[in-house]
Amino acid sequence: MKALVVDDSRAMRRIIARYLQDLGFEVHEAASGLDALVSAPKIPGLSLILLDWNMPEMNGIDFIRALRAIDKSKDMPILMVTTNAAKDDIVEALRAGVDSYIIKPFTTDTFKEKIEAVIPR
Ligand SMILES: [Mg+2]
Repeated sequence: MKALVVDDSRAMRRIIARYLQDLGFEVHEAASGLDALVSAPKIPGLSLILLDWNMPEMNGIDFIRALRAIDKSKDMPILMVTTNAAKDDIVEALRAGVDSYIIKPFTTDTFKEKIEAVIPR
């Protein structure tokens, strides 16, 4: 399975990528929403996007709205991984179309649970 990690922090991308590799994913990376919007459609068989909220160029929320407007990406599982822990933020992200939400910092157990919940079996 393939996953795309979208985060402007290289260190955070590395951490998330390592967790995903341990779960058997082939990992691709993007440094902004704009970068991800260009790369996501070019990854055949992409099955999951891990998405930061706060990023330059295009933030996570704008990315979701843009991606969901593309017909073949309407149902792409998106897991938001962010420090934004306010209830209003979570509601906004869910409304924009994320499938699940993880607040940084997180444990490997939480991470695994959330991934398994959004990936269709
Ligand atoms: Mg960020």
